[in-house]
Amino acid sequence: MEDTTCKSVRSALWDYTAGTLEQSDGRLVEVHLGECRECNLHRAEVRSLRTGLKHLPGKTVSPLLRTKLRVIASRERSRQALRRDLAARMVEFRSRAKLAFDNLLRPIAVPVAGGVLASSSASASSWIHSISTPNGRTISRSGCLRR
Ligand SMILES: [Zn+2]
Repeated sequence: MEDTTCKSVRSALWDYTAGTLEQSDGRLVEVHLGECRECNLHRAEVRSLRTGLKHLPGKTVSPLLRTKLRVIASRERSRQALRRDLAARMVEFRSRAKLAFDNLLRPIAVPVAGGVLASSSASASSWIHSISTPNGRTISRSGCLRR
C-alpha cells in the first residue's frame, strides 16, 4: 500500500481482519485505524460480517442430487470429447477427400491440359497463314514470297 487513504484502508480491511495482509501494510492500516473513527467502524462491520459468514450452516447436497449432477457432468464430458473427435475426423476426411479427388483427376487433367495446349498452339499456328514484312512483301505459310 503506497499511501494510506480511507479508501485504500477500507479496501484492505478484509485481508487485515483475516490476517493475510503483508506486515508493512498491516502496520499502516493499524496506524490509520488508530486515527480514523470511520474506518474503525468499517473494521467492526467487516469483523461482524466475517463472523456471521463463518457461522452459516453448511449446505448439504442430497445423494440423489449429487448423483444427478455427476451424471450431467459425465454426459457433458463425453459430449465434448465426441465433438473434439468429430472435428478431428472431419478435418481428416476433408484432406483425404481432396487428395482422392486430386489423384482421380490427375490422369484426366494432364492430357486435357496438354491437349488444350497442343490444340491452342496448333490453332494459333493455323491462324497464321502469312506474315507481312515492313517492305510490303508477304511471306506465306508455305514459305513463298509474294509482292
Ligand atoms: Zn479512514
